[in-house]
Amino acid sequence: MPISLKNLGLTVLLVSFSAVAQKTPVKITVDLSEAARRLYHAEIDVPVKAGPLTLITPQWIPGNHAPSGEANAISGVEFTTADGKPLIWRRDDVNLYEFHLEIPAGVTSIHAHLDAIVTSRATKQMACLEWERLMLYPAKIPVKDIAIEPSVTVPAGWGIGTALTPTGTSAPPPTTGVMESAHTPPAGAVTTHYAVTTVEQLEDSPVIAGKYFHEFPLAPEVTPKHYIDVVSDEPEDSNLRPELLAEISNLVREAGAAYASHHYYSYHFLLTLSNVAGGEGLEHGQSSDNGVGEKGFAEPAATLGNSDLLSHEMTHSWNGKYRRPSTLYQPDFATMQQGMLLWVYEGLTQYMGNVLAARSGLKNQAQYRDMLAMSAAALDNQVGRVWRSTEDTSIASSIDRQPIAPWGAWSRGQAYYQEGELVWLDADTLIREKTGDKKSLTDFLHIFLGKGGDTGPWIVPYDRKELIADLDEVLSYDWAGFLHDRIDVPTPHTDLAGIERGGYKLVYTDKQSMSDRMMSGARGPRAGGVNVWYSLGLRVQADGTVGEVKYDGIADKAGLFSGDKIIGVNGDVFSADALRKALDDSKGNSKPIHLLVQTDDKLNPLDLDYHDGQRYPSLVRVEGTTDYLDEITKPLAVLK
Ligand SMILES: [Zn+2]
Repeated sequence: MPISLKNLGLTVLLVSFSAVAQKTPVKITVDLSEAARRLYHAEIDVPVKAGPLTLITPQWIPGNHAPSGEANAISGVEFTTADGKPLIWRRDDVNLYEFHLEIPAGVTSIHAHLDAIVTSRATKQMACLEWERLMLYPAKIPVKDIAIEPSVTVPAGWGIGTALTPTGTSAPPPTTGVMESAHTPPAGAVTTHYAVTTVEQLEDSPVIAGKYFHEFPLAPEVTPKHYIDVVSDEPEDSNLRPELLAEISNLVREAGAAYASHHYYSYHFLLTLSNVAGGEGLEHGQSSDNGVGEKGFAEPAATLGNSDLLSHEMTHSWNGKYRRPSTLYQPDFATMQQGMLLWVYEGLTQYMGNVLAARSGLKNQAQYRDMLAMSAAALDNQVGRVWRSTEDTSIASSIDRQPIAPWGAWSRGQAYYQEGELVWLDADTLIREKTGDKKSLTDFLHIFLGKGGDTGPWIVPYDRKELIADLDEVLSYDWAGFLHDRIDVPTPHTDLAGIERGGYKLVYTDKQSMSDRMMSGARGPRAGGVNVWYSLGLRVQADGTVGEVKYDGIADKAGLFSGDKIIGVNGDVFSADALRKALDDSKGNSKPIHLLVQTDDKLNPLDLDYHDGQRYPSLVRVEGTTDYLDEITKPLAVLK
């Protein structure tokens, strides 16, 4: 039950459901039965009064940290009055997400019909509905104050997963579109109706639906209730392995122990398993939208690559959704969401996502350390750190969501994720050491993420001052200086203090870790590529195509560039093994490595002056020190 937050000064920030319920809601019914044609259809009824009306569709999508709303994919827009008279509309000349109409006297409700062209997240067997693709609602009103009543139509036999509260089912409502786009749902299609919510909450409540659907309850002894809803393209994939379900139940228990509060009435992991419609990870307050390849939780290499997906997105229910940087929380989806503090929103989530994955068995402790080594090494070798602070990568997040392929490490992209992870590991080990193991970051998380105790899916903004005060409550320390030195200014090296205080040292060896090998294996995320970043300074795909070249590294200096294709290595046809052998052979002699390289339609010989063999990052234990890394990744909850 919600409790009063008056004494925390937070009352004004809460969604007032009782006030909303008194208003006539916008009604929206989305028809997913043409997912195979990549078209979703919406029927929307909007209460209006006579005079000018502006309707709007979302631009700034929470969690995307960018103005990624796809107003351009909205087609077939028609407005009519209740008696079917068409209304003329005109798009705003400046805000392209706004539609202007003039409502005639006596009209109290208008109807809109529109389609969304969906270029991703839909196949013949499944559909993922992100409501922002089709939502239309009055502009310039806080989205938490607009009541909306959603319904979803799916073909006969399809299952639906969502955190929305169902109220009943019916046959699909009549279709009103009169143009080419008008679509009648197929025979047997079913419309499920959901309880009235707000535009803010509906945007935060995606729906997955599919022919091959399973819903599994998780950690049955935990309140509130948790579920994982799964749709897949192949019938067998959505029936998740019992071991995986046990690990996800452990994740629910571990999140409860780590955060000691909940900010949802129930929680749904939504999981799509598809080689076409996968590739997603988006947080929501009462659910998370997770998409991976169809065997993404079946094959060991893929499972390791996806091991922190569910724990990361679930952590966001607390860190990012409930507690949100004040500048990232705006009253509508039209105002810019500013990125500062994303090293908390995403960085702390990156840290806890990996820690919780290890605590719940989604990866083991050695895999946690291997992957931490890979991440830390990548950051420590990120040449762009000479010019760009982590804070700047946060501030500019909305223009950095797509990696800039040729020079990612020089631009730094969204380094705040992994950089933040190391800073929070630093803070965790620092608190443990300075308090003689009496306290840890867990104490901070209980304070920071648990303000107000258990709540519904509310949003409680914070600023850096509050963050520092909450850290100080756990350990009196110069946290302002700690964060400034690590976040606000460019640093020549990444923050390795947490790894070192944690009892380990980042080193480079000629042995690739088991996890690194799995990730680079034929079925791993790097799909048979070769990781020679720490030796030759480049990433190579399985067919010899050069991914990224390290700025000022050996390969860059020799003239190799992203997109080139390595055809030959020391006289042999290129293969991953041939390149690794050439590295081994380079050791202790002065002969260069000979490459034959295709650039555009030309072949060129190219020599790499390199003699240090294979080099891969690894964490080695420093004997005689406290092993905080293994301590941190031990289960915290009493596991069933
Ligand atoms: Zn995230």
